[in-house]
Amino acid sequence: MEEFLDKVVQQNPNEKEFHQAVREVLHSVRPVLERNPGYRQQAILERITEPERVIIFRVPWLDDDDRVRVNRGFRVEMNSALGPYKGGLRFHPSVHLGIIKFLAFEQVFKNSLTTLAMGGGKGGSDFNPKGKSDNEVMRFCQSFMAELQRHIGPHTDIPAGDIGVGAREIGFLFGMYKKLRNEFTGVLTGKSLAWGGSLIRPEATGYGAVYFAAEMLDTRGDTLEGKTCLVSGSGNVAQFTCEKLIELGARPVTLSDSSGYIFDEAGIDAEKLAFVKELKNIRRGRIREYVDQYPSAVYTEADPGLDANPLWRHKAHCAFPCATENEINGLDAQHLLDNGVFVVVEGANMPSTPEAVDLFVDKKILYAPGKAANAGGVAVSGLEMAQNSMRLSWPRQEVDQRLQQIMHSIHRTCREAAAEYGMEGNYVAGANIAGFVKVVNAMLDQGVV
Ligand code: NDP
Repeated sequence: MEEFLDKVVQQNPNEKEFHQAVREVLHSVRPVLERNPGYRQQAILERITEPERVIIFRVPWLDDDDRVRVNRGFRVEMNSALGPYKGGLRFHPSVHLGIIKFLAFEQVFKNSLTTLAMGGGKGGSDFNPKGKSDNEVMRFCQSFMAELQRHIGPHTDIPAGDIGVGAREIGFLFGMYKKLRNEFTGVLTGKSLAWGGSLIRPEATGYGAVYFAAEMLDTRGDTLEGKTCLVSGSGNVAQFTCEKLIELGARPVTLSDSSGYIFDEAGIDAEKLAFVKELKNIRRGRIREYVDQYPSAVYTEADPGLDANPLWRHKAHCAFPCATENEINGLDAQHLLDNGVFVVVEGANMPSTPEAVDLFVDKKILYAPGKAANAGGVAVSGLEMAQNSMRLSWPRQEVDQRLQQIMHSIHRTCREAAAEYGMEGNYVAGANIAGFVKVVNAMLDQGVV
């Protein structure tokens, strides 16, 4: 195994997030490999860690001063054993090939867990939508889609949103696809309701993470009622995580962005959350403005020089990291445990470093990795695709019920897979094993392709 991992590192230099994701999955599935020596002969590990296709392209666009700008675009089509490639697009200056590959790799197993027929992919660009005018964002999206449209389609690859790609960007991307291909199809998910979107899709990742937390607590005869919760991020996933927590009687007390975080001891209630949504989604402001509106809350500026994030030092029962990868390191994890946190549910992708994951697993807290806990987003994207194919739209309650059923099923599948391999209650092992086995069986059925 170590030899194989060394080879992955060598063959994919400068892609440390990809190495991290591969290492985590492969360590979890070791017992599966031992039980199935045939996988080795079929070069399953070599095949599953090699993307089926990687597309890298130039994205030139004109800014408002008529200057030509150039960004880099990516689409990694990782694995289509279970269905067409499916996964979001991320627009953020930190994007590089290693980030997109790690996200695409995780997506394969996440999509496998959803029970829907979706392969895994991911894409994006190092373009930063922050501080750009709507017209600049539109011109960038049009140029991005001018190339991407050659590689995607409703039966091939169906992108969605991720960091920096919300309703506005999906609209511009969809408009350009439609113009170039002269077809109105469900080629993207996260669309606006008026033209093919699904009810509950914006809410799905956050709601799904909270449903997963409720399922985990239920195994200990407990509920979210009255629980104090630390939430990071203030974008799509963080907002709807807070919304569902409030609805279920929990008390979220923090939110953040890359500039800093707010702590509101009284709890972020529905009215305060409505303010955050308006601030972040309409005015595109910063979370520090929360304390201008609610002066009893405290704002702390982010300090990259610190070895731990003070957000994770508050007393709480639950933590929902909903911002970005590796935002909880080993020290943060220790602070969480010291302050009474016994539920950690990842709304973001890979927000915990390997040291943090090891601590959570060792201490046997209720810890849900992103590929299980945040799968509600892609699951409802799958439901959006189903509705598009049938040219109809399901009511809100129906989609929400299906989402709850899917999260219930993912939770059960994780527990059963972990138990089958003697690792009861270990959701990391359960999610990785269950996701992996289904994809591998499909790959074996389909031959060496
Ligand atoms: P958004 O762009 O809506 O929000 C991202 C939030 O995280 C913002 O508050 C942003 O702050 C903060 N953030 C982003 N990068 C960093 C960073 N490097 N350091 C500190 N804060 C940061 O994205 P989403 O809410 O959609 O995504 C959040 C996470 O959830 C990501 O890991 C994503 O992959 C994952 N996810 C999203 C899904 C979805 O359906 N949207 C589905 C499954 C997973 P700022 O504004 O300052 O950048």
